[in-house]
Amino acid sequence: MAKAAAKKAAPKKSQASQKSSSNAPANSGAGKGDTLLKEYFLESLQDIYYAEKAITKALPKMTKAATSEELKDAFEEHLAVTQEQVTRLEQVFETMGEKAKAKKCEAIEGLIKEGESIIEDTDEGTATRDVGLIMAGQKIEHYEIATYGGLVQLAHTLGLEDAAELLAITLQEEKETDVTLTSIAENNVNYEASEEA
Ligand code: FE
Ligand code: FE
Ligand code: FE
Repeated sequence: MAKAAAKKAAPKKSQASQKSSSNAPANSGAGKGDTLLKEYFLESLQDIYYAEKAITKALPKMTKAATSEELKDAFEEHLAVTQEQVTRLEQVFETMGEKAKAKKCEAIEGLIKEGESIIEDTDEGTATRDVGLIMAGQKIEHYEIATYGGLVQLAHTLGLEDAAELLAITLQEEKETDVTLTSIAENNVNYEASEEA
């Protein structure tokens, strides 16, 4: 509302400095709309930064709870990857001249809670627990894939090519993790669970 009202007033300082920024071609001409999109982009980055950090805390619990060595290894490996993703996001903030900041992501809180309830509801040492943990893990990966997929496209739209390149690396890693989890389920865990009574 305040921004719409400001339209008729003199141009703001921030707009003037946006215009002089040479490596943001998307800003040439229509400054205002792009600035709002950039704000949205930045908030989405803060959201996924919170989510990645929360995932680094959840993964060790999922590793400990898993039954098969294969799944434990997959979660452990993804913890190392996720820690790098946190650092990569800090680099994305840096390319924009922004400080890395986390903003609470309600979705990841819910997805992690769902994973915790699966641990509570299944018996230790069963393949059925692994089935549940894989599905919980894949729900998280799909949330990340949707988020990073959108962020990569927005970065291109905003002319933030360095950010787009970094975010695309993480997007690929999340997709690979999703494929790994599917293969663990389909090759072993689902079948083993089908024999548990
Ligand atoms: Fe991630
Ligand atoms: Fe979120
Ligand atoms: Fe992930």
